[in-house]
Amino acid sequence: MLELNQISKSYSGVCALERCDLSIASGQTTVLIGPSGCGKSTILRLIIGLETPDEGSIHFGGKLLERGRLPALRQRMGYVIQDGGLFPHLSARDNAALMARHLRWPDDRIAARIDELAELTHFPIDALDRFPLQLSGGQQQRVSLMRSLMLDPEVLLLDEPLGALDPMIRRDLQADLREIFTSLGKTVLMVTHDLGEAAFFGDTVVLLRDGQIVQQGTMKQLLREPADEFVQRFIQAQRSPLETMEIAR
Ligand code: ADP
Repeated sequence: MLELNQISKSYSGVCALERCDLSIASGQTTVLIGPSGCGKSTILRLIIGLETPDEGSIHFGGKLLERGRLPALRQRMGYVIQDGGLFPHLSARDNAALMARHLRWPDDRIAARIDELAELTHFPIDALDRFPLQLSGGQQQRVSLMRSLMLDPEVLLLDEPLGALDPMIRRDLQADLREIFTSLGKTVLMVTHDLGEAAFFGDTVVLLRDGQIVQQGTMKQLLREPADEFVQRFIQAQRSPLETMEIAR
């Protein structure tokens, strides 16, 4: 579905990605994980076309991602960022409807799709006319998810979508998100720095360090056969204190 080939990207001399190869399977959830600054978000921003690679190529559904094709290909991808990125002056409904309005969908089609998405994302119908500031963090992310799903994209790109939420809301949304991914059979590429979240969502987990992929596989593989000392340390550092206590016993 998505193919990154020898991608390099620097920002004013700071290397964000270095000769990165990555293949994203269709209908699965792939999780990008790694320490802050290792290049996770850059991968998503390159795929959605907010950045262009210095070197290398990206293919989406077999088509080269190039400037001329970007607007059309972007409509086949949904993108959710950590703080939701909602427009504060638009209601939840209008935020969700943005792309459909841009494409001049008829009002009744938009209304029907929003009802469908509100049900899917467990967003209360009576809150659809509220503005983002009148919604909880979890509700804002549900609106952001509705917006990303509006055009029924093939791929969902999620950049720490739960990162700004408190633990209980985060758990609820985690469970709902996984159910949505499974029921819709979407190709999902998600960024997190949380190992537990990577294990919860990831069919495949990709661990990065300093702009390079260190290991890729199932979470079980990462846990059982860490590729090197860094992987081992990364996993160890994220084990819960309770687990660490048990290991120490
Ligand atoms: P991650 O998502 O893993 O935290 P990023 O992909 O955001 O990492 O960033 C990778 C590296 O690129 C970091 O060193 C970051 O500071 C740098 N970087 C990312 N975006 C920019 C930018 N717009 N300008 C300058 N440096 C950037």
